[in-house]
Amino acid sequence: MTVRKLPPDTIERIAAGEVVTRPASVVKELVENSLDAGATRIDVSVDGDGTERVRVADDGRGMSEADAELAVEHHTTSKLGEAADIERVDTLGFRGEALPSIAATATLEITTNDGDVRGTRVLVEGGEKSVRPAGRAVGTTVEVRDLFHNRPARRKSLSSAKAEFGRVSDVVTRYALARPDVHFSLSHDGREVFATPGSETYTDAVLGVYDRSVAGQSTEIDYRSTFDLDGRDRPLRVEGLLVYPSITRATREHVYAAVNRRAVYDATIRRATVAGYGSLLPSGRYPIAVVSVSLPPEAVDANVHPAKDEVAFVDEDAVADAVERAVDEALTTADLRRSAEIAVDLDSSLEAVGGDSRFGDVAVIGQYRGLYLLCEADDDLLVVDQHAAHERINYERLRDALRGEAVESHPVDPPKAVALSPSEAAVVEDNRETLSRLGFEVSAFGGRAYRIEGVPAPLGRVADVGSFRDALDALAAGEDPENAREELLKDLACHPSLKAGDALDRETATDLVERLGACERPYACPHGRPTVLSIGEETFVRGFEREHRRLG
Ligand code: ADP
Ligand code: MG
Repeated sequence: MTVRKLPPDTIERIAAGEVVTRPASVVKELVENSLDAGATRIDVSVDGDGTERVRVADDGRGMSEADAELAVEHHTTSKLGEAADIERVDTLGFRGEALPSIAATATLEITTNDGDVRGTRVLVEGGEKSVRPAGRAVGTTVEVRDLFHNRPARRKSLSSAKAEFGRVSDVVTRYALARPDVHFSLSHDGREVFATPGSETYTDAVLGVYDRSVAGQSTEIDYRSTFDLDGRDRPLRVEGLLVYPSITRATREHVYAAVNRRAVYDATIRRATVAGYGSLLPSGRYPIAVVSVSLPPEAVDANVHPAKDEVAFVDEDAVADAVERAVDEALTTADLRRSAEIAVDLDSSLEAVGGDSRFGDVAVIGQYRGLYLLCEADDDLLVVDQHAAHERINYERLRDALRGEAVESHPVDPPKAVALSPSEAAVVEDNRETLSRLGFEVSAFGGRAYRIEGVPAPLGRVADVGSFRDALDALAAGEDPENAREELLKDLACHPSLKAGDALDRETATDLVERLGACERPYACPHGRPTVLSIGEETFVRGFEREHRRLG
């Protein structure tokens, strides 16, 4: 499609606002143009804070001389057809405003070739446009120099070079993760900061942006469902990658959202992703995840934000539900067992396990250092952290108990007298029923003196009396009773759990592993730490150089 000027009525309908506010917004517009041009490889390089020089080179379809000359004019685009339907765009750009906005406040040089014998160079400097032939392979390089040279106030409002480059890096990261099928590289002052291979897998993209330790502890998602739009069933797909909750961050910034392959800061997707992790996340911590939602273009409005950083969904709840379910299912069924060195695909062996427990076919070989259970599972050696495993089991039992029956209580004999502060006493009085359902039997005997007559004994292990104060703290701390209860459950789950050095006979150990396998989320303790590591046989084959021996 060729570049042409948008009709005036379309121009009036596009979300107004400044497109170019800082170097990162220049990079974003250029990268989006490269993606719209079908690039499979995009190299971004930045000097200083980005006002000095930004360059984006791609291997997309390029532009003819006529198109390149027109593209730098206002409201010229090749992306909206005759009908100019901005309600259902399937390109990232559609306003024809980026290149002219950049040219108005910088030196803009475009070198491009759409497959002709020679390419074209368009230079806009100080508002003057010049066009001449230039050599270039098919694709486009856009270089922006001296940004905001004629807008000193804007230039002054920028942050440090480090901070501005950080924003550029964020933009490239978001697209590199939204488009694992495209090779991205980012360089700063001549040094490569990161690169992704464009291999199509989210794991490889995360490996490029983060590192091995993060990418190696993750699971990919691909979830499909439908939702109702004007009485018709329409498809909705959720793809991406979830990093296991043993690695978390203090903010939601590491939840990368994309909608129809557009990188967006979408609160709905971020919230639903966090909700999908649920109790696997330690409180106040957020996951690292890439969540890419695809749905028919008419179910999304991309024209709500001048920088196109946000979109509006026709049915936001349908999107939130699907994302939460996709994340929850992936984490529940995913193999959260950490694999040492080599990624081992245990999905198939997991599916083969019948009955209630996912570890039904696991044989406990022994115990190591009084801390870990070593187990044989098909071709792998499983190492179970018995304390973490016990916490997970207790947590799920307690949670279920709170839903339904009360937790077993173990009598404290003789009862233990405690003097409570006025606020602690108030917590006891306000939460008598909750405490009793949790297994605490408490009676008042004058003033603020109480007697603890029973403590929780989930799984036959008796909580110590000190857990009572923890329970009161948890109940007092959370303004939201749901959160308070979650915290309480996690702490309680921890209290009577097996401690380091507890010897377990084989029967008890087998029982523990089986109970763990029967948990809803067996692979992480309530605080998000892993419960099981798996070491594939390949590790040993490699370590003992058996392959060589076989060959030799
Ligand atoms: P928009 O992306 O909204 O169409 P732009 O000002 O960003 O507006 O770009 C104008 C036009 O220039 C695009 O419609 C496209 O035809 C062309 N163009 C810009 N960048 C590239 C590129 N990297 N490769 C091929 N064509 C491009
Ligand atoms: Mg554009």
